[in-house]
Amino acid sequence: MAGIDIEGLATVYPNGVRAVDGLDLHVADGEFFALLGPSGCGKTTLLRTIAGLESASEGTVRIDSVDVTRTEPGKRGVAMVFQDYALFPHMNVAENITYPLKVRRVAAATRAETAERTAGELSLNGLLERRPGQLSGGQQQRVALARAIASQGKVLLLDEPLSNLDARLRLEARTFLKKLQRDLGITTVFVTHDQAEALALADRIAVMESGKLRQLGTPREVFARPVNTFVANFIGSTPMNLLPGVVSSSGVSAAGGTLPAAASIPSGAEVTVGIRPEYLTLSTGDAIGPGLRGTVVVAENLGVQSLVSVDCDGTLIGVTVPEEQEPSVGKPVFLTAPPDRVLLYDRESGELLARQPVA
Ligand code: ADP
Ligand code: MG
Repeated sequence: MAGIDIEGLATVYPNGVRAVDGLDLHVADGEFFALLGPSGCGKTTLLRTIAGLESASEGTVRIDSVDVTRTEPGKRGVAMVFQDYALFPHMNVAENITYPLKVRRVAAATRAETAERTAGELSLNGLLERRPGQLSGGQQQRVALARAIASQGKVLLLDEPLSNLDARLRLEARTFLKKLQRDLGITTVFVTHDQAEALALADRIAVMESGKLRQLGTPREVFARPVNTFVANFIGSTPMNLLPGVVSSSGVSAAGGTLPAAASIPSGAEVTVGIRPEYLTLSTGDAIGPGLRGTVVVAENLGVQSLVSVDCDGTLIGVTVPEEQEPSVGKPVFLTAPPDRVLLYDRESGELLARQPVA
């Protein structure tokens, strides 16, 4: 078991791209840690730098308190699953899974047992004799995962390991992976561009943009209190409403109305108001207290909820309502929100203006 400490880390490619641009991170022993961000933000590069497959241009990487910044990959005690699987085409599944054990001269009987057990855990039963070329992409990805787990490294580095599974298997594999990580207690860094996957799996999430860390927190923290509008935009299955507003004595004026705000910011300040569709309440009766008036434009079915778009003084605002409670198109409605759910961001920098408690 081991934690990972990253200090002042930068990875610059020969063409001058600073793919990782000055990062400080601590991954705790046994933690399930997600690196989340859009394509090209440097997630793979960071993971490869931890593994030693890219060399750090600046800063240090420590695993289990040992400085491994200049240590070769094979001696860092890491197991990695690559986005493109990197399986040996001439070996069958069992041989692929247990290859790291063979290198370490583990006895054949133990290897066979490990292959059997790990294959079972990853729904690869009956495929042990096959070659990678005889497997689907999803099955290949699971063989790569099985190989990493079987190698029993101190830390597990996973680069978008579920991205090639079809939707249903992906959800099953996600649940399986979370349970497996809990059972093994192995420190895991999980790269994904899928915010729902990060929220579902991770103990903590590092949100990255252009090689830099934009927020570090628990899934609840990054969902309920994004510290900047980049994270606010990136996290959440239904996009957060972000509207221009002006702070007033009674809250914040936006979209032709007023929303309450818990933050103590001087009146007249120009802000971006952030409010999740899930935290707005829609009513069709008499309006009481601060809120936004509008008319229903469209309702989208999300299953147990619908996302209703409301035109408030020319601004479209999303609000979720329970199934079968969608108001009809054109209906006048009133939107309200609890003060602690209304986030205020600096209009220029996009940074959260006031710390607000996490519900
Ligand atoms: P992600 O995994 O988040 O999609 P990557 O780490 O793959 O991001 O890439 C980060 C940045 O580094 C991108 O701008 C990408 O084009 C660049 N990059 C990745 N690999 C190389 C490389 N081998 N040489 C030069 N630039 C690279
Ligand atoms: Mg990548």
